[in-house]
Amino acid sequence: MSTRNGGSASRAGAAKFENYTNTASKYSPSSSLKSMLQHSTTAASSLRRGSRDYSTISGRVRVAVRLRPRNSEEMIADADFADCVELQPELKRLKLQKNNWDSDTYEFDEVLTEYASQKRVYEVVAKPVVESVLDGYNGTVMAYGQTGTGKTYTLGRLGEEDAAGRGIMLRAMEDILEEVSPENDSIFVSYFQLYMETIQDLLNPSNDNIAIAEDPKSGDVSLPGATLVEIRDHKSFIELLQLGEANRFATNTKLNTESSRSHAILMIHVKRPVKGKESSVSTENGNRTPISKTLKPPVIRRSKLVIVDLAGSERINKSGSEGHTLEEAKSINLSLSALGKCINALAENSAHVPVRDSKLTRLLRDSFGGTARTSLVITIGPSPRHQGETSSTILFGQRAMKVENMVKLKEEFDYKSLSRRLEIQLDKLTAEHERQQKAFDDEIERITLEGQKHIAGVEQNYTDSLEKLKCQKDYAESLKRLEKQSAVKQEKYGQQKVNVGLSDYGIDQKSKSQPPVLPSSDEVAELMQKLKNEILLRNTAEAEVDNLNKQLIQWKNIEAAKNSEILKLGKRLEDEEREKAKLEEEIKMLQSQLLQISFEADQSRRNLDKRLSGQAASSLDSLIPQAKHQQLREPGDGDKASVVKLFEQVGLHKILSLLQSDDADVRIHAVKVVANLAAEESNQEKIVQAGGLTSLLELLRSSNDETIHRVAAGAIANLAMNETNQELIMAQGGISLLSLKATKTEDPQTLRMVAGAIANLCGNDKLQVKLRVEGGIRALVEMVRCRHPDVLAQVARGMANFAKCESRASTQGTKTGRSVLIEDGALPWIVQNANNDASPIRRHIELALCHLAQHEVNARDMIHVGALWELVRISRDCSREDIRVLAQRTLKSTSGFQAELKRLRVDYG
Ligand code: ADP
Ligand code: MG
Repeated sequence: MSTRNGGSASRAGAAKFENYTNTASKYSPSSSLKSMLQHSTTAASSLRRGSRDYSTISGRVRVAVRLRPRNSEEMIADADFADCVELQPELKRLKLQKNNWDSDTYEFDEVLTEYASQKRVYEVVAKPVVESVLDGYNGTVMAYGQTGTGKTYTLGRLGEEDAAGRGIMLRAMEDILEEVSPENDSIFVSYFQLYMETIQDLLNPSNDNIAIAEDPKSGDVSLPGATLVEIRDHKSFIELLQLGEANRFATNTKLNTESSRSHAILMIHVKRPVKGKESSVSTENGNRTPISKTLKPPVIRRSKLVIVDLAGSERINKSGSEGHTLEEAKSINLSLSALGKCINALAENSAHVPVRDSKLTRLLRDSFGGTARTSLVITIGPSPRHQGETSSTILFGQRAMKVENMVKLKEEFDYKSLSRRLEIQLDKLTAEHERQQKAFDDEIERITLEGQKHIAGVEQNYTDSLEKLKCQKDYAESLKRLEKQSAVKQEKYGQQKVNVGLSDYGIDQKSKSQPPVLPSSDEVAELMQKLKNEILLRNTAEAEVDNLNKQLIQWKNIEAAKNSEILKLGKRLEDEEREKAKLEEEIKMLQSQLLQISFEADQSRRNLDKRLSGQAASSLDSLIPQAKHQQLREPGDGDKASVVKLFEQVGLHKILSLLQSDDADVRIHAVKVVANLAAEESNQEKIVQAGGLTSLLELLRSSNDETIHRVAAGAIANLAMNETNQELIMAQGGISLLSLKATKTEDPQTLRMVAGAIANLCGNDKLQVKLRVEGGIRALVEMVRCRHPDVLAQVARGMANFAKCESRASTQGTKTGRSVLIEDGALPWIVQNANNDASPIRRHIELALCHLAQHEVNARDMIHVGALWELVRISRDCSREDIRVLAQRTLKSTSGFQAELKRLRVDYG
């Protein structure tokens, strides 16, 4: 861990400058110096031109020396003496008077005389660093020197009374603000001081013990607990610096010290998307882009500029002589002397660099021998009285010049924004689909109703017409009958007339007695008229029948047309259904792509050797649980109903027997079904009785398939919610099995399930001993290597559960020794994450800490790793009242803590 950063590549880079030595007696040829300086300044500019694509380049730490003008006191006191240094800025040399007749000459990257303006100092010392930070590299600007030589003047001056006096911090932010775009880029700043190995937030003084978080893999350090303020304009930054200054003053007054004893550190985080490297997802105009094309995540660069105003360098030698206890003196100087040691080791290419010796060197591990572009300004005074200090400052600068960094582009894929975009796209598609479906259903309903009404109308018309027709037919028939009758009558009448003639001649005697009744001519006329009318009526009726027949045909045609329309609509319905199926397919695909991405994001997050410090990073993490959550529901909720059906139809025994099927696919499906069933409390007993738990444990033991492990562990975790099952799991060797699995897999989802199962077991008082003996607690501790927040939350829950049982046992007097959590090494992680951004993790850990603190025997270890400060913080800041009160009570009732607080003169209680 603590070997020289940069590996072999770094050494190769160093070899390039091997013949360049900065000693008093030897001068390197100025051409090699020039080429080197050019090299170190061109990285940013050639990158901006885009002509070369180098993700890592070698960059030596650049060192400038700045001489402070004589102050009024020196003018009087040292009036008769010459300055102890002589500067030759054009040669970039400095001569240090050794004695009256001898001097040493040193060469620096820049030599800044007492006349150098603040602007010039910024341009030669910090501007190249600021530019490369804007290009995506980390950068450090640091001032080192004796108190009173101008470190704060150089870095931190606000120039309120004289604009020309603005220091490096302000000018750097001005350049950054000018370059970034407010819409796409973001700038966040934290500001803190390091005093006696304690980090205090200068933007929130109550936050007075910030922990350093270190990524065990990439080695990146961050301060998740430090306040991060977003900077949008120059004014807000000035206000931030003023606040920091005021708090620094207040803090130092409270700690009874001066600022010269503490290191002030300003961190500026810059996040910028890389133009031209992002892919476009265009759904705004409704075009559906092929999904594969939308999956290229945009590239972002996250870099940080660290500006460090170190404590006075005289502290190294003089500490202890200023009324400090030895312990305090050691602490004050620890960081500064550790920095010197690291720089010596790096300058000498030593195999061991003691980075971990102090908080300062841990914080600056990227600045010296790491991947940042680093510029150091050493400040000296002219007074011969401080010759010794000046000399040691110069030697520090000389050694720092030999430190080689491998400057590295801090570029990463922005999976977060891609995932966000995909989710928006998915939501849009889903909403659009729903809208279309609804409109379509309404349309179908409307047309069907209209068609039915139409048909009913036609039918009615048809019956009416038929009725009419029948009447007319009857009428026509009766007419015919009438005509016939009339004809018969007329015939009869004609015959009678003849008979009348004959009888005149005595032919028909009989008829004489019965004279025939003849209609009068009026009657005939009337009849004729009636007949005519009837004929007329009949004709109109016939015309009407014709007309109705025509209408009937017309209606029939319309009906046929409607029918074909209905057919057409039916077809359209089918088409729409097909379209719907397609859309659903697409949504499914999008969802699975999303999962894929979360996976990749997770993977690459682990692989990438960088990570933005602080809250910004954890907000990236917060996205992942969402995506994972969907994955965890596999098989999906929609399948649940079908699983239950399957369960009813096939029967539990059959399903369980499928767990041992030879066909891998069948096994996977079966275990998924069992897991789904086990999620329902009502099924759990049946599953266990039917031997399901044993089968699941067996699967975990014997299967080689990661999916099976994940799902089986999930099912076991669900079953482990019940106390009886917990004991069964233990009895069947489940604890050691789960513990083994925890060390064997790297799959975050499997780990989450395993951690969840163990966490459940941890809550059982009867299982405490077994959990320890079978490695359950060690497994929990080991699982934190997977930094997935869901896994960490389960681990934290397990620890909280375990600690709770332990504290119960200790009150009952059944447990007397130290906590197993402490013995198995969980405490450092607990302390580091006590203020984790993810609230589920934080809450459990806070609880765990409170429970651990209940037992007096744990106090010493807890104090040792800084848990006391976390408890103090919890007792003050925790948003959950019960935990806060518990922490307060515990702090007051534990004599070990009380003693320590008293020793540190912290007023508590
Ligand atoms: P340090 O932070 O190293 O202890 P300061 O920045 O506080 O030193 O400087 C000490 C004093 O010297 C201050 O009064 C400051 O204004 C003055 N000073 C420092 N550097 C210069 C300079 N280059 N020009 C003028 N005054 C300076
Ligand atoms: Mg200062």
